[in-house]
Amino acid sequence: MIKIIYYHNEKTDKNFEKSIDESYREVCKLLPGLPKTINIYFSDFGIIPESGIGGFAYSPDTITVSIDPKFKDKNKQIRDIKPTIFHEAFHVLQNFTGTTGPFSALDNVIYEGMATVFEREHCGVWQPYGDYRNVPEKNLELWFKKLEHISNKDFEEKYRDWKFYHPKIKERWIVYKVGTWITDKVLDKHKLTILELSKKKSDEILSLLID
Ligand SMILES: [Zn+2]
Repeated sequence: MIKIIYYHNEKTDKNFEKSIDESYREVCKLLPGLPKTINIYFSDFGIIPESGIGGFAYSPDTITVSIDPKFKDKNKQIRDIKPTIFHEAFHVLQNFTGTTGPFSALDNVIYEGMATVFEREHCGVWQPYGDYRNVPEKNLELWFKKLEHISNKDFEEKYRDWKFYHPKIKERWIVYKVGTWITDKVLDKHKLTILELSKKKSDEILSLLID
């Protein structure tokens, strides 16, 4: 179940509570290691223009959900709650949260990739941020190499470029696209499901990629 600990726009936020609660109950059945009750903190941070929603695994017991009150397609916005909660819950399970870092660029690649594959496999949506199907493979390879060599300090300063929009490369969501591509490669190579990766750390995923 969920426990609301803060409203940002109470009137808007309340319309999404039921979907958040149902989604969290559902994901708990798939991922038994999740806390039985999760705190929901409504905010206005990181809203994706395509869905009017933002999610953030703030800590091992709190997920931040941001809802754009002006987003026109309310049905789409409600539908996108479930994949958002599934994605953030996967981060909580993997302990990839705002308070449990810092995480390297490669950790970000792998954990974002796994959460994005999880929501795709279990909610049936290719999110725009994880959709690498139209990205030439040589670009994915090149960005992966670059991310491998970014120091923690540089990543801390430039993570917005790599995660959301890189002004020089002119590409959105590089970390997510590369991570989703890598996760799919690992799953395909070892004939595994995303649930079988849920207890694995990023370095284990990277060794599966090479093995
Ligand atoms: Zn994420």
